[in-house]
Amino acid sequence: MDVEQMKVGFMGVFCYLVACTRTKEALVVDPAGEEDRIVERVRQKDLTLKYIVNTHGHPDHTCGNEKVKALTGAKIIMHELDDQMFNSEQGKEMAREWGFTPSPPADIAVKNDDQIIVGDVCLKVIHTPGHSPGGICLLGDGNLFTGDTLFVGGIGRTDLPGASTSQFMRSIKEIVLTLPGETIVWPGHDYGARPCSTIEDEKRSNPWL
Ligand SMILES: [Zn+2]
Ligand SMILES: [Zn+2]
Repeated sequence: MDVEQMKVGFMGVFCYLVACTRTKEALVVDPAGEEDRIVERVRQKDLTLKYIVNTHGHPDHTCGNEKVKALTGAKIIMHELDDQMFNSEQGKEMAREWGFTPSPPADIAVKNDDQIIVGDVCLKVIHTPGHSPGGICLLGDGNLFTGDTLFVGGIGRTDLPGASTSQFMRSIKEIVLTLPGETIVWPGHDYGARPCSTIEDEKRSNPWL
């Protein structure tokens, strides 16, 4: 499994190109702008992009869905709760207010424990609500894509519509932090001193935990 981290858009979102090295099938996590650059990387690496997977429905993470789907034919995958929330008129309005293109509806809505497969790569969906109702982390081959749930040295905010602080802390403490210490944490924004971390390092040094 090959992981490439790309920082895109004006909110410092980390987008990830995750590929099977054998079959060259790939998925992109949170194409949050600079769609042409993302698709160019897909072509340079000779990959077939099968899925666009969103860690959650916030428009800063989903704003590139429409264009990347149009350019590659990849299917959009999101947790069913965020698909519902952000495909409502209110959700689309929120995207426009933030200055983003709303995402089309998910082609595939997922829930906890579902698996997303590209070639030999299998990412398990872990529902981690709190930052948004349908926030997910994706776990595969010792890599954890944490979206806006866990950052390097930080955690997500819980003051936006649909958020819940108590649910959020439960997701972090009872689900994310119980994963093996050596699991690599790939965050949803470039807020930390380093681009990635591990569960063990965050437990030891993240002041919010
Ligand atoms: Zn968010
Ligand atoms: Zn975000």
